[in-house]
Amino acid sequence: MKHVYLDNAATTSVRPEVIEEMINVLRNDYGNPSSTYAIGRHAKALVENARKIIAKQFNVSSSEIIFTSCGTEGNNWILRSAVKDLGIKRIITTKLEHHAVLNTVKQLNAEFGVELVFLDILPTSEIDYAQLEELLKDESKPTLVTLMHVNNEVGTELDLKRVASLCEAHSALFHCDTVQSIGKTKIDLAETPIDFIVASAHKFHGPKGIGFAFIRKKNVLKPVMFGGEQEKGLRAGTEGVHQVVGMAKALEMAYDLLEEEKAHISSIKEYCKDRLLEVYPDVCFNGNNVGFYNILNVLLPLSEEKAAMMLFQLDMKGIAVSRGSACQSGSQKPSHVLSQFLCAEDLKKPSLRLSFGHENTKEDIDILIDVLKTI
Ligand code: PLP
Repeated sequence: MKHVYLDNAATTSVRPEVIEEMINVLRNDYGNPSSTYAIGRHAKALVENARKIIAKQFNVSSSEIIFTSCGTEGNNWILRSAVKDLGIKRIITTKLEHHAVLNTVKQLNAEFGVELVFLDILPTSEIDYAQLEELLKDESKPTLVTLMHVNNEVGTELDLKRVASLCEAHSALFHCDTVQSIGKTKIDLAETPIDFIVASAHKFHGPKGIGFAFIRKKNVLKPVMFGGEQEKGLRAGTEGVHQVVGMAKALEMAYDLLEEEKAHISSIKEYCKDRLLEVYPDVCFNGNNVGFYNILNVLLPLSEEKAAMMLFQLDMKGIAVSRGSACQSGSQKPSHVLSQFLCAEDLKKPSLRLSFGHENTKEDIDILIDVLKTI
């Protein structure tokens, strides 16, 4: 049975070239980057070289890149420190954010009484930019805007430049959860005034357990965890040198191959839409119909009973897809994202999140369609 992986928004395979670099480091570069003798200094050089490679992709200084363990950690750290250390009193966000942001801002509201404002969501799954602008005009409280770049369930893409310039014009900080877009689209932080972004290597064919945060120099955050002087004391703990090196290699490859892979992935998505429409003329594509090029959220015209069994049946045939974000895919509860803009009737129907990668082929889509036809 051929295994078909259509859940690249949950995680991605590690590129063979990345694995090779990581194995080299594991074999040969076991020094602690904080040690002052030769093998320690060499490990440190590997970490700093990786930081430079990453910083270059975003046109920023390498001192603005801090390594973390994942996207969740980066989001938690930035949001918490913005409230505790930068005096943020109001957070503007949406109910479409990943739980790494949503649950964090709710916690900050409970702990520090920071005001939370949730933007309205339009039927297209987009935010109302005019509402954001109106809210930002009130500059009476230090404000942070946290909005994700690409939604992990429906692929809705934020207009980064528009939000960044609105925030800049009204002296608000802008944190963007870029976990789904890093490595899939270019972001020039020299020309886009975003204060903070976060990344997670396993979303762009790098290893799990490593990510990074960009913290613009003018914003001086404090650590949430205390220990050694690694990462300028902002993120103590011995660096996973092989993971850092693997992440930089994965990011570099993602951007070197971006145009070619984007064209391929977009063509797979288009093929999938066409094939779905052939089988289910009534199929709907949830959210912004154009969406980001690697995510397709599909509302299938099937009954509730069929919906309950669908993921299981697909899994039995070797097909990996999800109903929402990976952490919710086992849950029968409606997605917190879809429930923001679908009607109650549609929420009962099965929605599938298909997310494509450069390894997918049209044959994968044909296999998916053949199985869906039997449900
Ligand atoms: N933010 C978004 C938009 C995500 O899609 C994810 C993972 O699915 C995260 C944050 C959390 O990232 P990590 O799994 O690296 O903690």
